[in-house]
Amino acid sequence: MNARTHVIGHPDDSFFDDCRIRTVERYKTSGLSGDGWRFSYAVELCRKGAVVARTVVGSLHYAAALLAGAVQLSLVELEGDDRWEVLPFQQVPGAGVCCQPGCADAATNVYSLKKEWSKDCRFSTEPDPAYAPVREFCDAHRRRGDCGLDDADDNYVVVSGPGPEGSEVNPAKVRESSTVVIDFREDHGEKDADA
Ligand SMILES: [Zn+2]
Repeated sequence: MNARTHVIGHPDDSFFDDCRIRTVERYKTSGLSGDGWRFSYAVELCRKGAVVARTVVGSLHYAAALLAGAVQLSLVELEGDDRWEVLPFQQVPGAGVCCQPGCADAATNVYSLKKEWSKDCRFSTEPDPAYAPVREFCDAHRRRGDCGLDDADDNYVVVSGPGPEGSEVNPAKVRESSTVVIDFREDHGEKDADA
């Protein structure tokens, strides 16, 4: 890949792409108070298959509340919170990992963007040639579809790899979108809607 290109994330990439709460059991022994099982709860925030931040708390209720707030924070914000342990994270954009949120597979396709769209897809700009934004995808995610404007086959130019042509999305991942059919019955002044 050209050294001047820059891998930019998927529009829906909010850094953390997985999270979980694990029950951690411990058999406590004590000559004074006796022996017995004790439980704590490990909260883990992940990206691309790796745990990047974690903490351990004493109740499942607190773990769930903590998790709900933490997924909205940045890694830098978590680093400033003593309750969290932030782990070394090597997989950054440009490291050859698929840009599909949640996918940790090696990128085998590099696409440059024809236009960069705003988050709400209302505005687009021509990429600065000196910046040359690209996205990388693995073989399973090389087809991007024709629904969006930013992340869409028509908005990419294949720089390297086979590209979307001839790629079949795993049938297990394909699900038809729900549709809305509005039937205007003028003769009765009725309107039916099926979702
Ligand atoms: Zn992928």
